[in-house]
Formats: sequence, C-alpha cells, structure tokens
Amino acid sequence: MSQTEVLIIGAGPTGLTLALWLHKQGVAVRIIDYAEAPSKNSRAVAVHARVLELYHQIDLADDLNGFGYPLLASNIWIDGKHYATVPLSDFGKKLTPYPYMLMLSQEDHEKILENRLRSLGICVERCTKLKHYVEHGSKITATLVRETYGSEIICDASWIVGCDGARSIVRHEIGADFEGETYEPLFYIADIEAGSGDCYNPGFNGEAHIRMLGEKYNVILPFCNGKRIRLIGTMVPESYQQTVDLSTPNPQLKFEDVEPEIRAVTGIEIKKLHCFSTYRCHHRIADKFRKGRAFIAGDAAHIHSPVGGQGMNTGIMDAVNLAWKLAAIERRTFALDVIGATDQGFTMLTSKGFWPYLVRQWLLPYGVPIVTKLEYVKHQIFRRGSQLICTYRGSHVSQAASGWGAVQPGDRLPWANLDSGDNFSSLRHIAWQLHVYGYPPADLEKWCILNDVLLTVIDWDPHHGKVGLKKHAVYLLRPDQYIAGIFEGPSVNSMLNDYFSSRELTY
Ligand SMILES: Cc1cc2nc3c(=O)[nH]c(=O)nc-3n(C[C@H](O)[C@H](O)[C@H](O)COP(=O)(O)OP(=O)(O)OC[C@H]3O[C@@H](n4cnc5c(N)ncnc54)[C@H](O)[C@@H]3O)c2cc1C
Repeated sequence: MSQTEVLIIGAGPTGLTLALWLHKQGVAVRIIDYAEAPSKNSRAVAVHARVLELYHQIDLADDLNGFGYPLLASNIWIDGKHYATVPLSDFGKKLTPYPYMLMLSQEDHEKILENRLRSLGICVERCTKLKHYVEHGSKITATLVRETYGSEIICDASWIVGCDGARSIVRHEIGADFEGETYEPLFYIADIEAGSGDCYNPGFNGEAHIRMLGEKYNVILPFCNGKRIRLIGTMVPESYQQTVDLSTPNPQLKFEDVEPEIRAVTGIEIKKLHCFSTYRCHHRIADKFRKGRAFIAGDAAHIHSPVGGQGMNTGIMDAVNLAWKLAAIERRTFALDVIGATDQGFTMLTSKGFWPYLVRQWLLPYGVPIVTKLEYVKHQIFRRGSQLICTYRGSHVSQAASGWGAVQPGDRLPWANLDSGDNFSSLRHIAWQLHVYGYPPADLEKWCILNDVLLTVIDWDPHHGKVGLKKHAVYLLRPDQYIAGIFEGPSVNSMLNDYFSSRELTY
C-alpha cells in the first residue's frame, strides 16, 4: 500500500504537465502509464504561444524552443496555384513573447517533460495500468497492475486525475458521457524526408502549405529543424474504392495507396518515410470533468478535429488549471468553445455544398490575403489559434465584470513589453500575486507582507493603457497568470480579504 496526494493516470502531455505543476506547488504526486515509453506515433506537432507562456513559468519554454522549429509563414494554394503567403510572426507581434507556432514532435515534447520531471526526482511508473478505483470519505483507493509481473498494487490518494486519453477508464468510472461524433472523411498522416533535389520544391521551403484541390485538402508542416515534413490530407472514396473499402471504421490503407496522390498534389519526391497512418477524427466532450475526488483532463475530457492543432495544447492548459485545484467546470466552458470553433473550420474545409465551396474557392484565395493585412484581423486570428483568447470570465473565482474596459477579471494578464523589461518576469512565481501599474494604495504593501503575497509595482507607461491595463488599479493574479480581480480605492485591503473569504480560498 502506498500513499500520495494526487494519483495521475497517464503520462501524455496532460499528465506530465499536471505532475510538473503540482510538484512545483509542493503537492506529492504519483504518475503511472501502461506504455513502456512515449508513443512514436505521429500526433501533435504544433505548440502554441499560450502554452509556451505557461512553460516560461517553470523555465521550460527555452528547452522547447531549443528543440523546436518556429513556423513563421504559411502559404495558401488552390487547385495548384499559389494565392498567398501569410507571415505568422506578424500576427502575434506585440501580443506575446512567442509570436509563432513551435513545431515539435509530440514524442520529443513528452521526452522533455518527462526528463524535467525525472530531474525533480519523480519517475513515471511505466508498464503500470489503472484497473479501477473506489472513493471513500476523504480519499480514493486505486488498484494498479504492473503489466510485466501481473502483480497488483493498491494506492491511496486524496485525488485521482484521469489524463488517460480518449479511451479513459477514469471517465468511464465517473460515469461521464462522451458526447459528440465522428467525422466522415478519412485522413492520412505521413512524416517524410524529401529527396535532396527537392529542397527547392515550394512544399519543402521551411514554411507551411495548405492546399485545396477540389474537395480534397492537404497540409504540409515542416518540423525537425525544417528537415522533415508532416503531410496531412483527406482521402476521397473515388480515388481508392478499387482497392480499399473506405466505409469501414478502420480501412486498411498502406502508404503505397496514397503515394501517387501525394506526389501529384505536393510535387514532393519522397526520400524516406518515417511513419504513416490513417485515421478518422472525432469531436467529443465529456458531460462532466469531475465527480467527487476524481477529475479528467486532456483527451480524456475532450477530443478535437485536427484543424488548428488544439487538442494537446488544450490538455496542457487543463493541467495547469487543475494543478491549482480549480473546479474543472471552468475548463469545460473553454473546451466547448474550442470544439465549436474547430468543428466549424473542419466542416468548412471538408464538406460539400455552397458555403464550403465559397470558403475554399473564394474566401481562402482572395479574401484571406486582403484581410490578413489588417493588424486587428491578424491579432484576432493569432489570439484564437494560440489560445491567448482563453478567458474565465464569469467563473466563480473571477470577480464580477465591471467598468474595467477591454481587460476584465477572468482574462489572461496582457503582455506589456517595454524597453525597460516586460510585465511577465514576476509570473515565474506560481502563487497568488498582485500587480500594480502606477502607484499602489497606501497600505497594500503591509497587506502583502502580512499575507506573504508577492506584490509587483511597475511604473506606469502609456503602453500599459494600450494593452488594456488601468493606471493605479490593483490586479489580483491567480497562480496560472489569469486575473482573478481588479481593485481600486482606499479599501483595497478589505476587498482582497472579502474576495478570498467569500470564495473560501487561501493564498
Ligand atoms: C494525427 C494527430 C495529429 C494531432 N496534431 C495535433 C497538433 O498539432 N496540436 C495539438 O495540440 N494536438 C494535436 N493532436 C491531438 C493530441 O495528440 C492529443 O490531444 C494529446 O495527445 C492529448 O494528450 P493527453 O495527455 O490528454 O492524452 P494522450 O496523449 O492520449 O495520453 C494518455 C496516456 O494515458 C495512458 N493510459 C491510458 N489508459 C491508461 C490506464 N488505464 N492506465 C495507465 N495509463 C493509461 C496512455 O498510455 C497514454 O500515454 C493530434 C492528434 C492526432 C491523432
């Protein structure tokens, strides 16, 4: 029998991030996974700005940047003709220290997280499977099975978190429904190296390429320092019905079945195939993220279509949120929003009919190059794609909205970068803290010393106003960098006391 505070099931990106954040906050964790090692299957390759901002909190962003490949531009092709190059770095400029999409294989990403965890003295217990758990009183008791010996281990914990992927046992045990559906189109995914003569091929120039060809669509994403490319494409039944029945749930397609089409659509000479698989996408969300002492997070709680590469990123943000024990209901609202947006995008790209046709043939080739020249549009696209837009307005831990302007309680603290430094430096401290831009109220420092809460006072600059911050206001920040409340006036100290006592929170 062993004991821990939090038992984490699954060492994918969600479980590993959760373990890192909990450990950083002094919570004892145990993390198990039935796999021997991180999966080599091709899965996520895109890490978004919001996740890098959060990794900065635990000094991990530089490690990822060191291994990853920043994607700076994307091209749009319709029926073989090049229509636009969209410079991604322009989109997020001034919004974040990480104005790009970082390309890094999920396997390498997981290895970086696991190595960091190991360096902190926590080893993922591999070849170990959750069989079931029971909850009684103030703890849960889980039965784990060591696959190699078939031996059973009993583990007591205060909490159990299922980061155990789409087929989650924990989700099953909490009795959550997994509502949603499976998309009709069959996708292929291939990681390849191109022949040397093809380095001049526009599909292999270190940028992303989105190609629409009739109803088919195909994406080329460079990674591995631009030396490899990930090809993702839809397969239409007409091309393959001679050899393979695509209507079955898992059609057995081989790379040879799609290779001629890949060559025809992309013009790429394939030198080496690293991996190939076909899959059908789903979009589903659990009807609850928690029951008693059990939570679910990541793919166990929601799965997405691949448009926008949001699944892993959303799971990592679930983990950071859960790590300071917020009610999971807050994350369900955001996950629903992401699923809604990616579902619309996916359906537009892959369906038949007038509107999808209009988007593919007119909006993408002619509209996108024009509207993406507008600063406002670029920022809005980046904010959504990179999850900077995530907000917890209206959550019970967010103070009610008031006349604060664009930035309200529940929002991410906006990034304000000045020549003298930025306002994210103090955020490495994973705890409640206060920011004031201008002069703090007279007794605030005393309150902070008394309650051991970090206070950062930054000289007011007009740029702070431009990003939505208010002069002399007191920003109460949650441990995950979101604004819990904004206070002003002579009685800020009692407002802070009220905020914590009315929500039964401690700092
Ligand atoms: C082809 C493809 C491309 C994708 N591209 C992107 C992208 O570009 N960007 C993006 O953000 N997302 C992308 N995704 C989604 C992304 O891969 C997932 O969202 C992500 O893996 C979810 O992480 P997770 O940790 O929640 O779950 P998983 O990665 O599924 O990890 C779950 C872990 O739990 C373990 N486990 C399961 N059951 C048990 C048990 N009973 N006991 C012990 N261990 C257990 C498993 O072995 C596994 O290691 C893509 C997915 C696919 C399939």
